[in-house]
Amino acid sequence: MKTENKTTPAAPRKVLVVNAGSSSLKFMLFSMEGEIMLARGIVERIGLEGTRLKYFRHDERQLVEEAPVSDHDGALRLICGKLVDPDCGVIESLAAVEAIGHRVVHGGEKFHDSITVDDEVKRIIREYAILAPLHNPPNLSGIEACERVFPGVPNVAVFDTAFHHSMPPASYLYAIPYNYYERYGIRKYGFHGTSHKYVAYATARFLGKDISELRLITCHLGNGSSITAVDRGKVADTSMGMTPLPGLVMGTRCGDIDPAVVLYLVRQGMSADEIDHLLNKKSGLLGVAGIGSSDMRDIIAAAEKGNQQASRALWMFVHRLVSYIGSYYTILHGAHAVVFTGGIGENSAYIRARVVSQLGVLGCHLDEGKNNVSGQPAVISDERSTLKAIVMPTNEELMIARETARILTSSADPSRPQASPGGNNS
Ligand code: ADP
Repeated sequence: MKTENKTTPAAPRKVLVVNAGSSSLKFMLFSMEGEIMLARGIVERIGLEGTRLKYFRHDERQLVEEAPVSDHDGALRLICGKLVDPDCGVIESLAAVEAIGHRVVHGGEKFHDSITVDDEVKRIIREYAILAPLHNPPNLSGIEACERVFPGVPNVAVFDTAFHHSMPPASYLYAIPYNYYERYGIRKYGFHGTSHKYVAYATARFLGKDISELRLITCHLGNGSSITAVDRGKVADTSMGMTPLPGLVMGTRCGDIDPAVVLYLVRQGMSADEIDHLLNKKSGLLGVAGIGSSDMRDIIAAAEKGNQQASRALWMFVHRLVSYIGSYYTILHGAHAVVFTGGIGENSAYIRARVVSQLGVLGCHLDEGKNNVSGQPAVISDERSTLKAIVMPTNEELMIARETARILTSSADPSRPQASPGGNNS
């Protein structure tokens, strides 16, 4: 029997991607035909002194100017003015923007996928501010600014947590009494999901394989770093947790730490806010290297000049990453590739060489000549390697634009919230 004749909505031709932070609003405008980035930029220091707009057009034309705005609405209107400017613009009118995709950090347990924004979706994003107090409120403010500036244009929320929803309970539960999960939603959610998903699929395409054939270990190494075991397109485990604090050694975050350290510090008289600041902003490479920088380039330069603490920070970074790779290789029952992405993963041949030199036992051997790449896809392991090492630049904005188009053109809407906190989704 023939089913009803549903028409699939037309794909949006131009998609604006918005990433709203507490004092910044980043954007990228894509023409989806050929996935071409038309313009990108940022309004930074919103609500502070020295608010600035940096605007870059696809043809390298760029401008930096003072931005007399004090909120996300003002920032967005300023950006829109540039997008349609006869001199530096890329579209004739704002009507060309047919959809807007938003980065939203925390989708908690209810969002397993990207979703078209409505009042209920906004309510839940607001509710999850308890899990991401620094991110979800500004993300929501960016959505609401778009609703005002682009009335009638659909907004799609793309969550950093969504890709990780395929994790099994053995990976996402913490070994504390189960009712804490049920009552408070205390569990691992994972972050950087949009990036891990993008590089997993891009790696499959690069290798000429289908994602369903591959077991991958994706390493997103930037200021914030995380690693994910991707089993044929589904997440088997990931290193960040209920918050982005655990896992790898990061620029200023400590990564994995004995939770009793926190209790010890409380008993020494430190407040929750002080410990939060210590572990999120003063730790990681910044805290260990002690050179006043969390930038990997500075840490490497200091280590090469013989700074012992910088050397120690580097080894900790590499050691933690290698131990996760070993663990994920095991839970994946072997893997096809370790994939490096993010500012460090894409650009630092030095860090990649140090990591891969520890992976011989897993059948991964560096080809030093091939490792000499920056910011482009490449296999950097040698011919005999049974576990490949790959560099794959991430593109979270393009992934958000693709997700936006996918959600708006899928006739059924599989993306509505599915489970309530404490529900036993697996
Ligand atoms: P974010 O997490 O803020 O998006 P990025 O992914 O841009 O960060 O990564 C920033 C990190 O990448 C910084 O630590 C920077 O030092 C590092 N990085 C960028 N280029 C290089 C390089 N050539 N060598 C080593 N580290 C680099």
